[in-house]
Amino acid sequence: MIDNSEFNIENWLQNKFSAQIFEIISQVADDMHLECYAIGGYVRDIFLHRPSKDIDIVTVGKGIKLAEAVAKVLGRKAHLSVFKNFGTAQIKYKDIEVEFVGARRESYQRDSRKPIVEDGTLEDDQNRRDFTINALAVCLNRDRFGELLDPFGGLKDMENLIIRTPLDPDITFSDDPLRMMRAIRFSSQLGFDIEHETFDAITRNKERINIISGERIIDELNKIVLSPRPSVGFLQLDKTGLLPIIFPELVALKGAETKEGVGHKDNFYHTLVVLDNIAKHTNDLWLRWAAILHDIAKPATKRFDPKLGWTFHNHNFIGEKMIPGIFRRMKLPLNEKMKYVQKMVTLHMRPQVLVDEDISDSAVRRLLFEAGNDIEDLMTLCEADITSKNPEKVRRYLRNFEIVRQKLKDIEEKDHVRNFQPPIGGEEIMDIFALPPGPEVGRLKSSVKDAILDGVIPNEYEAAYKYIVEKAKKIGLKPVKK
Ligand code: ATP
Repeated sequence: MIDNSEFNIENWLQNKFSAQIFEIISQVADDMHLECYAIGGYVRDIFLHRPSKDIDIVTVGKGIKLAEAVAKVLGRKAHLSVFKNFGTAQIKYKDIEVEFVGARRESYQRDSRKPIVEDGTLEDDQNRRDFTINALAVCLNRDRFGELLDPFGGLKDMENLIIRTPLDPDITFSDDPLRMMRAIRFSSQLGFDIEHETFDAITRNKERINIISGERIIDELNKIVLSPRPSVGFLQLDKTGLLPIIFPELVALKGAETKEGVGHKDNFYHTLVVLDNIAKHTNDLWLRWAAILHDIAKPATKRFDPKLGWTFHNHNFIGEKMIPGIFRRMKLPLNEKMKYVQKMVTLHMRPQVLVDEDISDSAVRRLLFEAGNDIEDLMTLCEADITSKNPEKVRRYLRNFEIVRQKLKDIEEKDHVRNFQPPIGGEEIMDIFALPPGPEVGRLKSSVKDAILDGVIPNEYEAAYKYIVEKAKKIGLKPVKK
């Protein structure tokens, strides 16, 4: 139960540093005769018991002047940054960040999310907030210290777990369409419902998302991906029609076709279950993205074979190839994080094959070598990929993966291939045979690697040297030095 009585001083002065900061701001604001409030997410999070280190301060007057005066009192341990163009200032003190801004009124034009900004009252400032739960303010001036201002019933909405815009939602979302993503993000993060008028307005205004930059959209989408049950957000993105605009490849997974009495699962809902499953085991954004993308090429590879039924041959490899395009468009990073996601997608079917009793050590070694240190993540993905509704089947599959984990462990202990580097490298091959750089060198190098992974020779220099000399002989090469 959330009520005003919970709003006592111990409750919202979350740690001794923020208590100290509020004390100082209060004093300085009084000395400067400025009305001053803590506002927005920080106040919301007090009630939701989510400790936060980002504090937003609104003052009726000049925010920068107040920040400068507060920084002076805090002394050398505080770091002040002033953003004159935005009329804002930030103080970093210990691990706390405090943003100062003057109360403002905003008005929007249709083709931009950049508002015309004027000085305003606290009420104007609360009116420009996106949701009732984000519009709460607490007065910091001494004679009203701790007074809560909740003009739109944000407290009640928090109690009822509701996301709702303070004003007409069509205007709120049309003014700044990023708020549509934010509504769904808060719903997914906090487990709140979006009030139906607000929800319908997102559906009506969905096309407006096109005026928002990809960077801002992905910021919100990643917060949805990192929420406790990301499917909540994705299903709402889908229902409102935002998902086809921002992530059409995921929507393309929808549908369960039947031919000659043979059906296949709906890969959209399957993917969301995999994502929810993996969210229980990892907070790593990129492993969660691997779950989102593991079957992304199923529509592109789907075939019906009268003998085999539905097939999705090579969907892992095609999926890997689709990822750079998706990452580029969605403003996800084109760096080693993307490579990691690609690797997870390519390999996601491999552990399953290792379940077979007759599987050779060499197959296990190869997977260890290819996955390297990401082998644990890969197993986590594979286990999340079990979405059968039959508990007996789930138990059996999980048991099988236990067996695979054991095989991986045994082989790694025996052969240490996880981070293995072949004992003879390209440079050395060129030296031994007086070869110039070229494909020959690459082929000889791979042959040593394969021989070790296949267990033909041990992972040792002498054996590798002997092996490579034999190999080279067959193509007419002789060692010029050992
Ligand atoms: P979180 O800290 O979880 O990322 P938040 O909304 O608390 O979310 P910010 O995004 O820093 O954190 O926003 C702080 C406050 O600013 C919000 O609580 C809200 O009052 C206001 N706000 C932020 N973005 C918008 C927006 N697009 N439209 C209206 N108000 C906004």
